[in-house]
Amino acid sequence: MKGLSVKLRIAVWLTLLAGLLASLLLVFLLSISRLVSMRTAMNQLSGIVRENLTQTGMVNGRLELGDDFRFYQNGVSTLIYSKNKALLAGQLPISFTAEEEFQNGLTREVSTGTGKYLVLDLWFPVGWENGVWLRGMIEAPDNRQLTRNLLNVAMVIMPAFMASAALGSYWIVRKAFRPLDSITATAASINEAHDLSRRIGLQPGQDEFSRLAGTFDQLFQRLELSFESEEQFTADASHELRTPVSIIKGACEYAEKYDETLEERQETIAMIHRQADRMSELIAQLLSMTRLEQGIELAQLERVNLNELLCSLSEELPYESHRLILELQEEISVMADPSLLSRLVRNLVENAFKYGVPDGCVWVSACQSGSEVLLQVRDNGIGIAPDQQDKIWQRFYRVDAARGSEGGAGLGLAIVRQIARAHGGYMTLESIPGKGSTFTLHLPGDRELI
Ligand code: ADP
Repeated sequence: MKGLSVKLRIAVWLTLLAGLLASLLLVFLLSISRLVSMRTAMNQLSGIVRENLTQTGMVNGRLELGDDFRFYQNGVSTLIYSKNKALLAGQLPISFTAEEEFQNGLTREVSTGTGKYLVLDLWFPVGWENGVWLRGMIEAPDNRQLTRNLLNVAMVIMPAFMASAALGSYWIVRKAFRPLDSITATAASINEAHDLSRRIGLQPGQDEFSRLAGTFDQLFQRLELSFESEEQFTADASHELRTPVSIIKGACEYAEKYDETLEERQETIAMIHRQADRMSELIAQLLSMTRLEQGIELAQLERVNLNELLCSLSEELPYESHRLILELQEEISVMADPSLLSRLVRNLVENAFKYGVPDGCVWVSACQSGSEVLLQVRDNGIGIAPDQQDKIWQRFYRVDAARGSEGGAGLGLAIVRQIARAHGGYMTLESIPGKGSTFTLHLPGDRELI
């Protein structure tokens, strides 16, 4: 059995079960038919002997039998014995050789040398002391013959029954397992062809296999998206790194050939410096995001006074206080990682200035709202079109790639979102193109402590 496929194993078990049930049915039929034939014979015996009793009488000490008295009817022999057990009338069947005592009214099975008989005795009293015995007997049904017949029929029917049970169960199991075959075939073809776009594509149904196939299709879909996004990420990251590298290489080659004066060389070195800074910023961002995404960098939560954190941050950032406006009212403390939270606010503030109008302002506020603590960064800049608002959180996504030279690599908001998640919070955005944007960090309130 171990070497067989699951389908064959189930089919074999079902066939064996069907065989067992058929055998049990056979045994049941045998017992029932034995019981029925026995009961029929007994009823026949009792009916005829009792009928004969009504036809029996004694007139002046002589036995008188009515016209309807039958010594032999439907296999039942009736005999009349005297009180002393001498046979008065009737004929004993030749095969009945047993010496059987008389017992009034009791039908019983008596074995003789050649077979079995059912015997019923009835006492016909005459006066106080005299009377005669009526003995009825019938051959007991021969169940051995019946058994033989049934077994003969079973010998013919059983192999055909077992064969059709085997074929039928294998057909049913194969049909039931077909979705599993599709799942296996699809998984194998994905594996061989490295093509995650393939799907099992079963009709949605209520059975376990359809649900399993649906779950696998969803899994393949997620895997495909995740692989695509990984590929995109690698392509974007290498593209972003290649740009400053080619600028540096070009600048070096140009300087070697054409830079003659010290000033020209210093200019080139300054440009190389800027590109190296850009690369190192990009690598730092990539590292930080990967660590956050993979859970390597976990938020080290501690009680943070939001007002203090925002005040010290505004002093570090290179913006005048009339442009970076802190709107702080109540004292709010949250459980947060101060360095991650600072990075989040810094990213949002830098973006707000980067994509703001010249000499525009940026407002930073913190407040308690219901069970949440909200930290908002608002600007009166160019705003973000509604169809772009979901996309800007993706890695390397920039609304207008042409603006990329002045903007970053498109990782800032992806990092912001990861930091929010690392704190058990989330980000929302309200933005009107041409009027400005408000980025809001929602931190769960159960962490917040005043
Ligand atoms: P980048 O490094 O390009 O700034 P981000 O992930 O920080 O990348 O932002 C993604 C894009 O979202 C930006 O390229 C910009 O187009 C848009 N964006 C971000 N912040 C703002 C803002 N305050 N106002 C308008 N557009 C913004």
